[in-house]
Amino acid sequence: MKQQRKIILCGRLYDGVTREWKHNWEILVDGALIAAVGPQVLRPEDAAEIDLSDCQVTPGMIDAHMHMDYIDWHTIREEVYTTSEEAKTLAIARCARMALGRGFTTVRHVGGITSNGYGVLDVKEFIERGYMPGARIVAAPVFLCTAGSHGDLSQGFARNPELSAYMQKQRPGLGSGKAFFANAVREQVKYGTDFIKIMATGGFFTPYDSPVQQQLKDEELEAIITTAHELGKTVTAHVYTRELMQKLIRFGIDGMEHGSLMDRETAAMMEDKGIYLVPTFSPYEEAVHYDPEKIKDKQPEFRKKLELYKDALRAGREVICSSRIRLGYGTDFVATHQNYESGYEYEAWMNSGMSPFDALEAATRTNAGILGLEDRIGTVEPGKYADLAGWKRDLMTDRKALLDCSFVMKEGITYGNLLQEDSGSYPPGNN
Ligand SMILES: [Zn+2]
Repeated sequence: MKQQRKIILCGRLYDGVTREWKHNWEILVDGALIAAVGPQVLRPEDAAEIDLSDCQVTPGMIDAHMHMDYIDWHTIREEVYTTSEEAKTLAIARCARMALGRGFTTVRHVGGITSNGYGVLDVKEFIERGYMPGARIVAAPVFLCTAGSHGDLSQGFARNPELSAYMQKQRPGLGSGKAFFANAVREQVKYGTDFIKIMATGGFFTPYDSPVQQQLKDEELEAIITTAHELGKTVTAHVYTRELMQKLIRFGIDGMEHGSLMDRETAAMMEDKGIYLVPTFSPYEEAVHYDPEKIKDKQPEFRKKLELYKDALRAGREVICSSRIRLGYGTDFVATHQNYESGYEYEAWMNSGMSPFDALEAATRTNAGILGLEDRIGTVEPGKYADLAGWKRDLMTDRKALLDCSFVMKEGITYGNLLQEDSGSYPPGNN
């Protein structure tokens, strides 16, 4: 059945192309696509009118760094062993639906935290086929990593080596040696990954490693990047320090996540080569704008590292914010907010002195490029998917405005009924 054409009246429109609000513009949507946009578009007789004259209208938002396979960040460590792979797949489906309801029409899943598996690709396909509502998914189901690394969730059970060793063996993409990793890339491509994600250094949230450790050998990094490129896939890395970021740049990496301890020299190299960074500001807010009271609420090992690196995190944040690096918008919520609460990152950008347009551009056009979907999404232009969001709170002055979506359309379909959805918690009944 052909969808009815729609005219959307936008009180103010940010189109993702220019950094300005266009007043009282109109969008003509035909089926899944934008047919026209301008101060006044042609009005077909059959077109339904959607009045968003009291809204700021933007392209559908994109979150470029999500882990969708858990229900509640408070119980994420338990979920690793208390929920089935099937339940984890349902958690991914729920996250995609909640994200869509919040105006994030596309998300990038950068590897399962609690799951071993490929359920995200099934959810992605089900959403694409229209079997269920949800944000469009771009996914790397599995991240490549080594024993005891940030990607090795069995390190949480390291005091029980038998259990830990068993769990480690269940983890695809975890291994050692350049032959293993070259083949792991081939396998991930076979199973349908959209890109390759690696855990190049330790992290903040894992108990027994450190963000300054290099956790893949040079020859393993090179094997991963070369093999991925041979197969036409991009590679992004979880990484924090200048030394390893510079190494990855020399090896030809396409993008990086976090970069939170980087320096100016590294920024210049990235600017030079057009390498993107998804800086994921929000999880480090309490350390960067130091707030010992708020840090107290965090899980113990995360708290300890935030305290230890707070000055370095602040310095790194300043470098990132004053750079001309291609910055993407991503949240990485595993320890501070629920995975679908992507609007919190907007506040973090504002708190660091970034302009609203910096954040909006990152979350729309720049992220579309990072996801390799620049021809389909990220701007409001004829021929692109009709992915749109409407916001009643003022995005220019209200740092929490991106948490409060009033209207969402994906591929020409409106999803008003998802907007009021409550989150619940895990285990059920734990509210
Ligand atoms: Zn992450």
